[in-house]
Amino acid sequence: MTTQTALDPAALVGTLDLETKVRLLTGATAFTLAPEESVGLGEVRLSDGPTGVRGLKFSGGRKVALFPNATLLASAWDEEATAEVGRLLAEEALAQEIHVVLGPTINLHRSVLGGRLFEAYSEDPLLTGKLAAAYVRGLQSLAVGACLKHLVVNESETDRNTMNSVVDERTLRELYLLPFEIATSESDPWSMMAAYNDVNGVPATEQDHVINEVVKGEWEYSGLVMSDWFATKSAAPAADGGLDLVMPGPEGPWGEKLVAAVRAGELDESVVDEHLRRLLVLADRVGALGELREFPQDLPAPDSAVRREQLTRLAANGITVLTNADETLPLTRGTSVALVGRHALETIDMGGGSAQVNPPYQVSVAEGLTELLGDAVQVVDGVDVRTRPVPARPGFVVDPDTGRPGVHVTLLAADGSVLEDRHDAPTTVMVGFDDDFTEPVASVRFRARIVADGAVEVGVIGVGSWDVRIGERRLAYELKTPGGFAAEMLAPPVETDTVEVSGNDIVDGAVMLRPPSGTEVVDGPVDVDAVANALDGVGLFGLVARPAPRPAAESIAAAVAAAERADVAVVVVGLTEEQETESVDKSTIVLPGEQDALVSAVAAVARRTVVVVNSATPVLMPWIDEVDAVLWAGLPGQEGGHAVAATLLGDIEPAGRLVTSFPAAEGAAPAWSVTPVDGDLEYTEGTFIGYRGHWAGHAPAPAFWLGHGLGYATWSYADAEVAVDGPAPVVSVTVTNTGTRDSREVVQVYLEPTSADEPVRLVGWAAVTAAPGESARVQVATDARLWRSWDTAAGGWSRLADGGRLLVARGLGDVRAELDLPRG
Ligand code: BGC
Repeated sequence: MTTQTALDPAALVGTLDLETKVRLLTGATAFTLAPEESVGLGEVRLSDGPTGVRGLKFSGGRKVALFPNATLLASAWDEEATAEVGRLLAEEALAQEIHVVLGPTINLHRSVLGGRLFEAYSEDPLLTGKLAAAYVRGLQSLAVGACLKHLVVNESETDRNTMNSVVDERTLRELYLLPFEIATSESDPWSMMAAYNDVNGVPATEQDHVINEVVKGEWEYSGLVMSDWFATKSAAPAADGGLDLVMPGPEGPWGEKLVAAVRAGELDESVVDEHLRRLLVLADRVGALGELREFPQDLPAPDSAVRREQLTRLAANGITVLTNADETLPLTRGTSVALVGRHALETIDMGGGSAQVNPPYQVSVAEGLTELLGDAVQVVDGVDVRTRPVPARPGFVVDPDTGRPGVHVTLLAADGSVLEDRHDAPTTVMVGFDDDFTEPVASVRFRARIVADGAVEVGVIGVGSWDVRIGERRLAYELKTPGGFAAEMLAPPVETDTVEVSGNDIVDGAVMLRPPSGTEVVDGPVDVDAVANALDGVGLFGLVARPAPRPAAESIAAAVAAAERADVAVVVVGLTEEQETESVDKSTIVLPGEQDALVSAVAAVARRTVVVVNSATPVLMPWIDEVDAVLWAGLPGQEGGHAVAATLLGDIEPAGRLVTSFPAAEGAAPAWSVTPVDGDLEYTEGTFIGYRGHWAGHAPAPAFWLGHGLGYATWSYADAEVAVDGPAPVVSVTVTNTGTRDSREVVQVYLEPTSADEPVRLVGWAAVTAAPGESARVQVATDARLWRSWDTAAGGWSRLADGGRLLVARGLGDVRAELDLPRG
């Protein structure tokens, strides 16, 4: 569905003068584009995704539904479910009068250390591309635009604004561009986002080769290419390189400089016209050109019953059974459970950075399981899982005036006048980025009542001079930028003290912001310091308040005591937004804190031990042989606790299959380092990332392969055969549910080409649901795009040599049939 008008974008462009055209090619605010009445262009409103539509505010915006994260959704290997996610996100967007959602994120899981993998689907380009296309189709079926991001080779966060990804053309085409290619041809996304990094020495926002030649040229892409936020590094070179729109605005490197470049003959005005034409096409598609669309009023609220059902089901369907000795899972009702772990109490439902949203509630695993099993569950907090203190949880602090969860926040101008006063607010606030005050915010005051007695860790988050009073105590902090582009927003500094509180003490803290320096962003090669200075007066600020940490040994002893008394111990471990976040990469995949010791100690005494892993990406499991079952739960969104509980009890089958291989040891993967050397990050592993490299012996076998997942049944495979007469071979196989429960099986087909230069690769999959004893004949049509090889010398695609084998598998660790392909 589109809402197109009869207006002709190209003709409209011709009615505008150069200055106006150029002005429209930079955003009007952080997340809107400028309207232009003379051509009937309304305001186009963008919002971040991909796992919730946050709205126009970076933080503290309205309550919106928090979906399961991308890896968890992808683990269902289900295009229809992904399309449903797109439709639901479109509803969330329409409810906020948003025209474009900035997702899906379709960079690949090159190295498991990438901080932002939680936003992206998989290490596999076919799975990523097909799911992206389904997501886009769902979103755009309600005339809300999608935005594929980030074009391209943007797989890590270290030095993300200056790093140069060095990648050969074949790898670029076969791996990193492939999801964009698939999504473009199968779903016609209305926008894409050019990344922060350079690609082979040229900024992604100036990539004539990628944007003009490949995307708009070869693929005949009809949509708009916008920059990532503050990613545009030049005027004429970016415009000439194919970038259509600079975000955010209203300031930016185009404006007068682009006008001057045209006047000086450095840039043809037709280039500007073409960018604006694409912008008007986008506006037309989303109903912001000519007759402006009307937004529906009767959409489900983020906490409605219908959303609860959808979000529980979508999360549960991706949850993956990694091991399950002696059918430990599902748990039977009546079992007494010791539920252990900080992640059980504070389940992590989303990653950090621009993908965060402000959900109406989040159900923890402790809440979800207790709802189903009542008194049979004993919940025990685990060891600490963070090195940095986090914002106070609403509930641990309440607004002193209303008594409701949250804080009282006051934003003040330099003369002390109140710009905004918010009650029951989230405990952090973003300043200077997306507000529309008449004057800049000069200071922020937070007031909160701490609902606790005893030792509490209290502190502040954000760059500036802080003055904090708690009861009789007074604390002063001078916090500076920890360094790095936009760190004030994405990784602001924190400082805390431990104080004794009693009787609902009030914490009252105010921060004087660093005043804006007014430094201009320069043209030419990027000046990261100038961009950073231009962000003075911008930042995330907040209050910290949480129970003072207790020694790990005490927590472990309490967990052991509970585990000894119960029929089964369920230990919930995982990562937090310290590891899984935009702007920072991981340095290890070892679970943080003493979580491994906690699992081993519990497993040593418990009758049976189940571990639930609450992370979007692989972690090491040194205790894997000590425990009976492991369930991987991703970052399950606001209904996370309900989804995990439903799968633990088998009310919903955790039928997920991994979307990324889990390395068996630190460094034991085909691509590991994400640290550029002299600015360059060399993709030396070529097309052999993830399972492709493990299979070729470029790294030891993983602990778990992409595609692995046991579900709650067992399956036999028979009569596999291949038909090779169509555009790409079709595999048929009969699968039988040999278990005792209804179950969903994902039949995967991998191609192992004849040449050792060609990696093994997923070429197709199909899913089937069957009752115990039931068989189904499954057909998997393989994808012709995976039978190509990029011929760099010829500058084109060639078909792979005949021969090789097809592997019918449940992940390459469990190959069920091998089919030889004819040669010649
Ligand atoms: C991210 C984008 C995001 C944009 C707007 C950037 O930091 O890389 O993915 O859409 O911010 O918030």
